[in-house]
Amino acid sequence: MAWFKREDKKIKIPEGLWIKCNYCREIIYRKEVEKSSMVCPKCRYHFYISIEERIALMADERSFKEIDRYIYPLDPLDFKDSVKYKERLKNYQKSTGYADAFVYGEGKINGSPVILGIFNFKFMGGSMGSVVGEKILRAAETSINTKYPLIIVSASGGARMQEGILSLMQMAKSSAAISHLSERGIPYISILTDPTFGGVTASLAMLGDIIIAEPKALIGFAGPRVVEQTIKQQLPEGFQRAEFLLEHGMIDMIVERKRLKETLTKIIKFFA
Ligand SMILES: [Zn+2]
Repeated sequence: MAWFKREDKKIKIPEGLWIKCNYCREIIYRKEVEKSSMVCPKCRYHFYISIEERIALMADERSFKEIDRYIYPLDPLDFKDSVKYKERLKNYQKSTGYADAFVYGEGKINGSPVILGIFNFKFMGGSMGSVVGEKILRAAETSINTKYPLIIVSASGGARMQEGILSLMQMAKSSAAISHLSERGIPYISILTDPTFGGVTASLAMLGDIIIAEPKALIGFAGPRVVEQTIKQQLPEGFQRAEFLLEHGMIDMIVERKRLKETLTKIIKFFA
């Protein structure tokens, strides 16, 4: 006769009050995480932050002015997977309040003017389609016209499959746009946050004159499972984490969120 019965039920966490760390898997009181700009107090993992939080973190108060807010994506391929692409777009536009997955504008960092672009991961996983590519081009052009440094914060799953080849073309378009900056000696700083993958890593994210990553951010092209299956080898520990990339010379530095603005200020002054 059994004395007790054990059931392995998943503990339900009330939405909003607690948050599970993507890295150490600890369950943490949300308020505690929010207090420290969405950084895990146990392991220093940096959670994704919204566009508004990102602007507040990096730009001087009320200095950010968004440019080209209303560029809307089309659906030239008339694409449909489980849902029509047009429908998907409408839903994301409604839930996020943005036209697509990239926001850029002019702002100031400790008084120095910059062009700041940010991927919106909440909009279809920050995927890069025609609008994102076009806005990156425009951000780079604005940077050239004003001679202000360009800073892009990436958080993306990669190219947007619903736009097929058109989204792959954005890799070339954004890379070409950024190459014009170096020809003119205007600095481009790339900031990689968790997660940065696929076509975004394979283009603009890795082209920074300075490449900064947030602690423990996952950065790569294909995901670890795909890589493992392809090369049929076990991957080393910490593979694709920011720390691993720094050790192997893929990025220049890892900067904690609370020191990001100060670090950017130093870099901008250095280039000026
Ligand atoms: Zn953690």
